[in-house]
Amino acid sequence: MNENINRRIVLAARPQGRPTLDDFRLEEVAAPAPGEGEVLLKVEWLSLDPYMRGRMDARKSYAKPIGIGEVMEGGGVARVLASRHPGFAPGDLVLARTGWQTLLVAGGETLRKLDPAPDPPTLALGVLGMPGFTAYAGLLTIGQPKPGETVVVAAASGPVGSAVGQIARIKGARAVGVAGGPAKCAYVRDELGFDACIDHKAADFPEQLKAACPGGIDVYFENVGGAVWDAVFPLLNTYARVPVCGLVAQYNAAGTATGIDRLPATMRDILTKSLTVRGFIQLEFSAQLPEFQREMGEWVRTGKVRWREDVVEGLENAPAALIGLLEGANFGKLVVRV
Ligand code: NDP
Repeated sequence: MNENINRRIVLAARPQGRPTLDDFRLEEVAAPAPGEGEVLLKVEWLSLDPYMRGRMDARKSYAKPIGIGEVMEGGGVARVLASRHPGFAPGDLVLARTGWQTLLVAGGETLRKLDPAPDPPTLALGVLGMPGFTAYAGLLTIGQPKPGETVVVAAASGPVGSAVGQIARIKGARAVGVAGGPAKCAYVRDELGFDACIDHKAADFPEQLKAACPGGIDVYFENVGGAVWDAVFPLLNTYARVPVCGLVAQYNAAGTATGIDRLPATMRDILTKSLTVRGFIQLEFSAQLPEFQREMGEWVRTGKVRWREDVVEGLENAPAALIGLLEGANFGKLVVRV
């Protein structure tokens, strides 16, 4: 790698619906130099996550949109090349808001040193990082699964869903996954130990889901929305809890939805079944991070929580990989070896 040149991917255009490769642009610019209190970082691993699609739109959300011509946002694992911060030395491995690029300068206070680094270090982007924490905090704080209850989660082979189901099982609940295709479902059931996993692409998906949840659903950890939500909603029990974590089936939708207005019926059931439907962004639970790191670290070490990665080679392949992620092309936590 040329350490004088930063290769970076910027947002070239705002996608209309599904992103295309033309919405991204690869650029080469001079490497930045660190100022006082800063470090120069070489990005080794970049995490690709569904939230990135939202940042490509101009609409108001919980975080600022990426500007046209700005570097695509993202978190990654990076190596310190040069340091003008007393807390970091060349060779240190850190977790950083790297963006989609090979080199960057960052203030020392924005970095977390990975010392010791997990093995592999990409676990800090997956089960032991933001997605794992999202599952842990969202499920335990809002979902509150009890022994014998049924917890349903979609995108069940991905980093958030896989952790949700496995934590639910640790807490004594039944875990029913929803995933796209037989290979993902087999993995969720046979390797992650969920009680069942249903393929949302099957023509009779709603009937199969109902059969897998004979006692109804007590916790639905909402990752996708769309047709999965439609199948889940009638199965929710009185006092069911719905942590609303993500709606990936809708992220590429352009404009206002048309079709049947289900909101009145939905509100009626929220009322008559005393449902708790609560959205969250994981950052609000950051006080739980130390507890998460301790508990999840132990579960991963002892094999109670298993994980899987999908590795993409080369920064230039990140745009296609993100487009695929939004449609289920990934199988496990998606990371780019930069
Ligand atoms: P994944 O790696 O699991 O990737 C997304 C998956 O969504 C795809 O692999 C696909 O799996 C599934 N999917 C895509 N389209 C559909 C569809 N139409 N119907 C059903 N499933 C679909 O993602 P993550 O684990 O990283 O994230 C899961 C969710 O959590 C996302 O919605 C994300 O935005 C959200 N999230 C929210 C956070 C928060 O703070 N609230 C923080 C982190 C993540 P399959 O092939 O199995 O269908």
